Amino acid sequence: MPERTESDSRKLLRRLRDTLAVPGGGQDRLDQITHLIADSMGTEVCSIYLFRDPETLELCATEGLKKAAVHQTRMKLGEGLVGRVARFGLPVNTADAPAERGFRYMPETGEELFSSFLGLPIQRVGEKLGVLVVQSKTKRLYSEDEIYALDVVAMVLAEMTELGAFTSGDGAMRALHKQPVMIRGTSGQEGAAEGRVWLHEPRVVITNPVADDPLTEIDRIRHAVGELRVSIDDLLGAEELDKDQKQVLEAYRMFAHSRGWLRRMEEDIMRGLSAEAAVEKEQSAARSRMEQVPDAYLRERLSDLDDLSNRLLRILTGQGRDTGAEMPENPVLVARNIGPAELLDYGRKLKGVVLEEGSVGSHAAIVARALAIPLVINAARIVAEALNGDPILVDGDQGIVHLRPEETVANAFRDKIAMQAEAQKRYTSLRGLPATATCGTTVALHMNAGLMADLPSLDSSGAEGVGLFRTELQFLVRSKMPQRGELVRLYARVLDAANGKRVAFRTLDIGSDKVLPYMKPPEEPNPAMGWRAVRVGLDKPGVMRMQLQALIRAANGRALTVMFPLVTEHSEFQAARAHVLRELHREKSLGHPVPERLEVGAMLETPSLAYAPRSFFELTDFVSVGGNDLKQFFFAADRENELVRRRYDTLNLTFLAFLEQIVARCAEASTPLSFCGEDAGRPVEALALAAIGFRTLSMRPASVGPVKALLRRVSLDEARAVIDRARAAGAESARPALMEWLSSQTA
Ligand code: PEP
Ligand code: MG
Repeated sequence: MPERTESDSRKLLRRLRDTLAVPGGGQDRLDQITHLIADSMGTEVCSIYLFRDPETLELCATEGLKKAAVHQTRMKLGEGLVGRVARFGLPVNTADAPAERGFRYMPETGEELFSSFLGLPIQRVGEKLGVLVVQSKTKRLYSEDEIYALDVVAMVLAEMTELGAFTSGDGAMRALHKQPVMIRGTSGQEGAAEGRVWLHEPRVVITNPVADDPLTEIDRIRHAVGELRVSIDDLLGAEELDKDQKQVLEAYRMFAHSRGWLRRMEEDIMRGLSAEAAVEKEQSAARSRMEQVPDAYLRERLSDLDDLSNRLLRILTGQGRDTGAEMPENPVLVARNIGPAELLDYGRKLKGVVLEEGSVGSHAAIVARALAIPLVINAARIVAEALNGDPILVDGDQGIVHLRPEETVANAFRDKIAMQAEAQKRYTSLRGLPATATCGTTVALHMNAGLMADLPSLDSSGAEGVGLFRTELQFLVRSKMPQRGELVRLYARVLDAANGKRVAFRTLDIGSDKVLPYMKPPEEPNPAMGWRAVRVGLDKPGVMRMQLQALIRAANGRALTVMFPLVTEHSEFQAARAHVLRELHREKSLGHPVPERLEVGAMLETPSLAYAPRSFFELTDFVSVGGNDLKQFFFAADRENELVRRRYDTLNLTFLAFLEQIVARCAEASTPLSFCGEDAGRPVEALALAAIGFRTLSMRPASVGPVKALLRRVSLDEARAVIDRARAAGAESARPALMEWLSSQTA
């Protein structure tokens, strides 16, 4: 192989581009390209392997290996040297391929003649497309310069693959972004949705990977980097930045000023890439490194670099976030991640949300839940796979996404949605009816809310009131602490919309899964059991008092219900309640009207409160069981940890026995009791709760119908007897017995 110069590289890229400019089939082009590369690089072999499916690579063209092997030779991701290049996205360069660890001999290719091997990934910003290989008979390592040159070629091939240059009609090559893809993620919010992809950050499309005039391109990239630096400085100069935001921007600034970054891009341009392609090549390399780095901090920094590359590409191409594309009908938002405020901006026009990252307890998940939008998180590679407008099915129940689904899959899915819609219609007809079981007992069904936008559901769902208003959402979606005046206006609007129905406002429940962007959380080994909820309120009462004042002013003489989250012992409740009374007194002395009726209650979310002295149950105006937290503490199973969060059944008879004790304690003191965890909205769980004595359940608005429909069909006395029998028989969970009994009821 002769020493390569920059102008050799440019010549090769230009020849590649010219080959691609001529109309022709995908296979013809690939054949010509392998010939061109082998000729230009002075190697005996050049082969292109492309992904046939996400796990399988196929030899799609070769110069130098046996032609009969084309479209016959396949390997799994990770298999042989080619598979290794594809898996790790990094080059393999060896003088003696057969002696290399993991080498796999493919007799049909005739490659035993060739000793040296250089393989490079064909990839585009994290999307693995294939592998480019050159081989020679002589035992030699390829030089840095040769690797570099071939890397630039691989980059151009990636862009061209992306643009569909090699897609042939015979289906030999995988057409990118055309095939159905099924992605298994994690359920963030239940529900099913069919719609079209709306990318939160649309991909930047590069149509000119090869450029003729390197000096012009260098000029362009220098200008763009300059603009980028100024924009970061502007952001850094903005007020209202907290320490974390500042840190991220400082990291951006460091990268933007990094000489190495600009130098590498300029070198790529000198070899024939356009400015955009050079940025993307760097970005691809960063993504590959990101996948390999075990250290979370370094991974974060590499992902900063990734974001920075996106910004630079937008400057270069003029393609902003707003590409002018029109949001499709039934949009399903697809993003790597999204902040709660941005998600709230989209609001209910979204049919579903699919995130590549995220966690069950992330703010975005909390907002999606509040908006009742089906959400799938941890959907690996969705951003690389999806294009704006692609058909997409979101199965929030199973945590599965079908992108560009086959018609059969889409039909089955539509059946599921239709059945749900049908059921919803039936539920609507029950709206005005009480949830009275056949034994004559009536259960009050309330709804959970957290946004002003939830309030219309009070009427449409038929809920009797708001059993839990999560006030933290207003704090989470802002970049700074809301002012008292804002809160007064919001709470007043909530009470106006509730039109006399009871709304139980829960005071700020922050900490654990809910971290305010503008309040640095303490470093805690176990935040779920840490400084959170009413503990924060009591230790730093400023915010809690401001919130209580806002609630009293918003009530403006109307009835007011307040409850405190995660009360753990009686004295905590006494202290929290004393704050309410003090604020009441203060507001009165300032001449503000006081509520005509005031209820102050506690959420029972820790087992200890169930054993509080009777005086607690007598003092509190009501108890609301926060089953999500209570269950995680009862079973010592983190509600956010996928490995354990579904491990223990709510209908486990020990848990039901514990809940029954709470029912008994409240009954003894005549304390009103409700249950407002997610389980209250699951019909069978709701039935069990009602059967053991809960007379008020609060749930997502969409669950009111299904829960009411079931409760109206059965006898709570009989359900109670089924649970008791299961316990007497030594069962672990009441579920099997309840399910069997239920199926005999409907048979
Ligand atoms: C609960 O813990 O059950 C509850 C209703 O509160 P949250 O889910 O907001 O913690
Ligand atoms: Mg809770």
